[in-house]
Amino acid sequence: MKIRWTKGMRGAWSALLLLAGITGVSKGYAEMDIQDFTLQNGMKVLVVHDGRAPVVTHSVWYNVGSMDEKPGKTGLAHMTEHLMFKGTKTYPAGVMDKMVQRKGGVLNAFTSYDFTAYYEKVPVTELEPMMDIESDRMSNLQLSDAVFQPERNVVAEERKLRTDSDPTDRFFEQVMRRHFPHHTYGHPVIGWGADIQGYTFEDAMDWYKTHYAPNNATLILVGNVTADQVKPLAEKYYGKLPAEDVPERVIPVEPLRTAPLEYIKIDPQVQVVGWTVMYRTPSQFQGVAGAPVVAGEATGLWVLSEILGGGSTSRLYQELVVKQQLADGASAQYDVVRAGESTFDISVQPKETVTADTVTDAVQTLIDDLLANGVTEEELQRAKVSIKADEIYARDDPFTSLYRLGMWVTVAGAVADFNTWQKELDALTVADVNALARKYFKPEGRTLSVLAGNTQQLGKLKVTKDQ
Ligand SMILES: [Zn+2]
Repeated sequence: MKIRWTKGMRGAWSALLLLAGITGVSKGYAEMDIQDFTLQNGMKVLVVHDGRAPVVTHSVWYNVGSMDEKPGKTGLAHMTEHLMFKGTKTYPAGVMDKMVQRKGGVLNAFTSYDFTAYYEKVPVTELEPMMDIESDRMSNLQLSDAVFQPERNVVAEERKLRTDSDPTDRFFEQVMRRHFPHHTYGHPVIGWGADIQGYTFEDAMDWYKTHYAPNNATLILVGNVTADQVKPLAEKYYGKLPAEDVPERVIPVEPLRTAPLEYIKIDPQVQVVGWTVMYRTPSQFQGVAGAPVVAGEATGLWVLSEILGGGSTSRLYQELVVKQQLADGASAQYDVVRAGESTFDISVQPKETVTADTVTDAVQTLIDDLLANGVTEEELQRAKVSIKADEIYARDDPFTSLYRLGMWVTVAGAVADFNTWQKELDALTVADVNALARKYFKPEGRTLSVLAGNTQQLGKLKVTKDQ
C-alpha cells in the first residue's frame, strides 16, 4: 500500500498531483456542476456527475490534518491514516484492497496540512460495498498496541527514506520551521522523527476518536452517479453513524515579523544549488498574521504568479533563463486554497557557473522593477487566458476535480462559493495586481533560502549559524 502525503507547503498542490501521476495542471478549481446535501448527522455529501465512463470515485475527506497537531505529537494525522488500513471486525485488514483490486479499481489515501482523505475508484456497480467499508472504518477501527507498534516502524522508515536521506527535503523542513515558527505549518506532515518515536497507541486512538466522525467529514463522489441515486445509499451507510462532539477547529496564526529571514546552508550531498524566496501572502481563507481576508486577493496573487513565473513566457524565465542566462530554470508558485495563510514562492536553479548571490541580486532587480513599473495590460490578459485554459483542461480529469473540491470544503469553503474565482478573475485589473505586489512583496515578509554543495557556490552569501 502506497500512502501519499504532501511533502511540504511549497509546491503542495502540484507535488501531490505529481505523486498521483497527474502533471501539467495549474492551481485553482474549475467550474463544476456540484449537487450537494447534508445527512441528519451533519455529514456533507457532494456529487459531481461525469458520465463518460461507468466508474465512480468514492472519497471521504476529514477536516483534520497535520495543522491540527500539537507540539511533541507531530505526524499523528499521517500515522492515523496508516492505521485506517488495519481493518475492522467486519472487514479485516486487506479485505478492502482485495475487493477493489479484483474489480480493477484503485484505492489510496493522503494526508496534508489541512485534511486527511481516503478514496476508491471503482466500477459504479461497486459503489455500495465501498460505502459499507468506508463508513465502517469511520467508527469501528480495530486497533491494538500489537498493530500500532509495527506500523509506527513503517512510518519511521518512511520518514528515513523520504526525508532524512534527502538533503533537499531535510533542508526544506528547516526552512518551514523558520518561516512558520508559531504556525503548525512549520512542522512536517510526516512529523519530526523524535515525535514518531515518542507517541503511543493511546495518542493514535485519541486522534481517531476525536476527529473521525460523520459531522467532521465530507463524502465526495465524482463519476457516473447522481445525487438522487446516491442519497438513499449515503443515508443507509453513513447516515446510521451518530454525530459526535468534535472540538471546533482552530486555525493557527503566525504573528507579523519585523525583518526578512535568511536560511543558507551547505550540504556536500547537494549537486545542484536550490534557491528560493518565499513571501508571506494571504490564502483564500486566511490573511497574513490573521488579517481579514480581502475578496479577490487570492485570485489576484494567482494571476501574479502566472505573470512572474508561469512558464517560458513569464518574466522570471525570460529574464533569468533566456536574456541573462543565469539559470536553467525559474518559476513562481502560489497556493490559493489553504486554511491558514499562504506563501508566494520564487524558485531558481542557477547555472553551474553562477553563484547564488548573483541570482539573489537578479531576482531583487526584477522585483524592484515590478514594484516601480507594474505589470502590463498585455501580461494580465495573457495570464487570464492561460489560467482559464488550464482550468478547462484540469476540469476534464475527474481526480483533479475531486481533489480541488475536497481541498475547498475541508478548509471551510462553502460549496456555493467554489466557482467565484471566475468572476474575480474577469474583474481583475492591472491596478489590482500592482497593488497586491506592493502590499505583499515586502522585505519583512520575505524568507530567502539557499542550499548549496560548497561555499564557492554561495558567492557573497554567508552560511546561517544555527541557534
Ligand atoms: Zn505514509
